[in-house]
Amino acid sequence: QCVAVCPTGALTEVNNVRNVVDALNDPSKHVVAQVAPAIRVAIGEVFGMEPGSITTGQLATSLRRLGFDGVFDTNFAADLTILEEASELVHRLEHNGRLPILTSCCPAWVRFFEHQFPDLLDVPSTCKSPQMMFGAIAKTYYAKKIGVDPKDIVVVSIMPCLAKKTEAAREEMDIDQMHNVDLVLTTREFGAMLKEAGTNFSKLPPSEFDNILGESTGAAVIFGTTGGVIEAAVRTAYEWVTGDELEKVDFQQLRGLEGIRSATVKVGSQYLHIGIAHGLGNARKLLEDIRAGKSHYHAIEIMACPGGCIGGGGQPYHHGDMEILRKRQEAIYREDAGMKVRKSHENQEVLKLYEEFLGEPYGDRAHQLLHTHYSPKERI
Ligand code: SF4
Repeated sequence: QCVAVCPTGALTEVNNVRNVVDALNDPSKHVVAQVAPAIRVAIGEVFGMEPGSITTGQLATSLRRLGFDGVFDTNFAADLTILEEASELVHRLEHNGRLPILTSCCPAWVRFFEHQFPDLLDVPSTCKSPQMMFGAIAKTYYAKKIGVDPKDIVVVSIMPCLAKKTEAAREEMDIDQMHNVDLVLTTREFGAMLKEAGTNFSKLPPSEFDNILGESTGAAVIFGTTGGVIEAAVRTAYEWVTGDELEKVDFQQLRGLEGIRSATVKVGSQYLHIGIAHGLGNARKLLEDIRAGKSHYHAIEIMACPGGCIGGGGQPYHHGDMEILRKRQEAIYREDAGMKVRKSHENQEVLKLYEEFLGEPYGDRAHQLLHTHYSPKERI
């Protein structure tokens, strides 16, 4: 068994490649894959491509050739996350709710505040991460659509992250005592699996993800870098609050690689004060301010890894080289800029999911499947 150490210092990496191969070889199982946003700008490095090479289409083709029954995109679920998170933000703003709201899609960060700030558990968003929302929808809506027992569906995630493995195992995430994500491979593990299969990755013809969990927008892909989740949420919250079309979707003031950033965004008649931190040392400073009642932010995005998921502990090693992270980040924004649809609330597959199955964003069924809760945890 291969074990590697997590740069966040919290976890070890247990290699699940054999389990994935066993699932693919089991004819009684329907095996689906989801690919996180940050993978597409980094996995090429495993095959000698330049950092920042965009390989979205090659990823879809490679998964199909490995034999996955459904080849899907975590970006679909990132758009879904934004519908829930922007609803929660608007709800808290309109109902005098707890502010600031903190993003909750980074499991290393979630674990950190559960251990170290147990008095602030009502501050983070209750939204599950895109990985877990995908799993919840795959084992309910998708299972029903294709007529397969959820117990026979194996959800495999390709993630930039070691903490995503323990997130998948959290009991708080289960629905009907069933894990929604079964196996998680890091970018490096998936790269090794492709190499073992003799895949000439850089030469693969590109293809599309499958529907009905494959459509995504530019807002989803920017989840892969620090500042992206909050920018995606602002794109949606702006249009919901003002009722106006957002003509310029690029919020340059939310971008960059500085450890702590802050920006003010005008939304209708009000100003939203936004904080962004990556790296847990930086996160601690913002949390201490909240604890001391000194925070003036409405919303804060926190990611544990340098640069956000582009610098995740499961990505090809970057050894702290900021130039590599910068190239991956630029690629994320290029991919966003090249998308036809760049706002999560315009994702047609997501809208159909609400219409056919979930009901309203932030409604009862969405709460049941897409939200979670936190509890104080022992220090590790
Ligand atoms: Fe995982 Fe790091 Fe991304 Fe957090 S920032 S979700 S720990 S890769």
